[in-house]
Amino acid sequence: MTVESTAAPAKVNLMGLSQAKLEAFFDSLGEKRFRATQVLKWIHQMGVTDFEQMTNISKPLRDKLSQVAEAVAPEVVNQWDSSDGTRKFLIRVGGGNAVETVYIPDGDRGTLCVSSQVGCSLDCSFCATGKQGFNRDLTAAEIIGQVWQAAKSFNQFGVGAQRKITNVVMMGMGEPLLNFDNVVDSMNLMMHDNCYGLSKRRVTLSTSGVVPALDKLGEYTDACLAISLHAPNNALRNELVPINKKYPIEMLLASAKRYIDGLPDVRRKMTIEYTLIDQVNDRPEHAHELAELLKEIPVKINLIPFNPFNLSNYKRVSNNALRRFQQILIDAGYTTTIRTTRGDDIDAACGQLAGQVNDRTKRSQRYKIDKNALDASNADIIPVKLVDEADVSITFNG
Ligand code: SAH
Ligand code: SF4
Repeated sequence: MTVESTAAPAKVNLMGLSQAKLEAFFDSLGEKRFRATQVLKWIHQMGVTDFEQMTNISKPLRDKLSQVAEAVAPEVVNQWDSSDGTRKFLIRVGGGNAVETVYIPDGDRGTLCVSSQVGCSLDCSFCATGKQGFNRDLTAAEIIGQVWQAAKSFNQFGVGAQRKITNVVMMGMGEPLLNFDNVVDSMNLMMHDNCYGLSKRRVTLSTSGVVPALDKLGEYTDACLAISLHAPNNALRNELVPINKKYPIEMLLASAKRYIDGLPDVRRKMTIEYTLIDQVNDRPEHAHELAELLKEIPVKINLIPFNPFNLSNYKRVSNNALRRFQQILIDAGYTTTIRTTRGDDIDAACGQLAGQVNDRTKRSQRYKIDKNALDASNADIIPVKLVDEADVSITFNG
């Protein structure tokens, strides 16, 4: 006896499709390309995902769309509001996985911190996401779907609605440049006039330094760039950011400078992120070395006091060391800001995002063991693991 499959063919999720991909989709249906613009506006400006409500589309086409397509954002399973206005979303992405997205209001600015992967394979020694291991890349629908869900929660959709999300930073869970195509498509939707219409100066990709992907970035987007540097020399950066062993500081900064130089607006600067950890990278000589290292590069520097989490024995920089570090950089002529910790009461700060990662690397297991060993030996830093060759796979558009 033969058993025939009764499963319907999978529907195409229109949520994550760029304008070009949506046009190709309508082409494949034998429909006019301008339908792409209509659907983009319905989904990303009006917040409408039910084809039946897309009233400028004919009934027969709406019926056809319902059969072959859907527009679905990942589901918000939990939401926490901090006393300081920060809001954290836990977003389910299937297979026992969930990612976190954080909204941080600050005066008339509202920044959404978006995740790009379930966990992260790069395992920086000070990062909670890295300690959770890695499961998979998020799809473009799951990345832009975080923006969609946040916009919905703030009633931001529709004509005349107040825009609460003014900035997006790709600084949630994961390394955006290891999920290149989906991240680029999503950032371009954030900046697209038919979608969220954010200025290219208000969308930022943050990377720990996947140089081959960074070399390609300028061909696909002109968003802002932040480099997670955290150390002024290779010996120290090798310990904190293991991918540095593969792509050392000089390579990374040269590639980042090429990206910035290639942007049409000549006065744009990249952001250097430097997480300050007590007694590790916070000494005056580190600040002087950093000032020397960056002197030929258009940068502003953002100092991030290390945010503790329970698998790390690193400590937050002292206020004295923080101020001293900042002053040295200011005296050397750099615009240098300190990122204030927000959402403390809901674990929403940088590097504390953990979500739920069904870890395929078994790293989370290893760290549980390492943590016990550490407790026994009273060592004060988490041992750094090398990046596996297989962890660093890169795909490009086109
Ligand atoms: N993978 C990307 C983006 C996500 S991390 C990157 O590394 O750039 C976003 C920022 O938070 C990075 O600058 C990262 O170094 C910083 N960060 C990670 N863990 C942190 C912690 N425990 N305390 C403070 N900042 C942290
Ligand atoms: Fe990954 Fe960034 Fe965390 Fe490093 S700091 S482990 S690259 S998310």
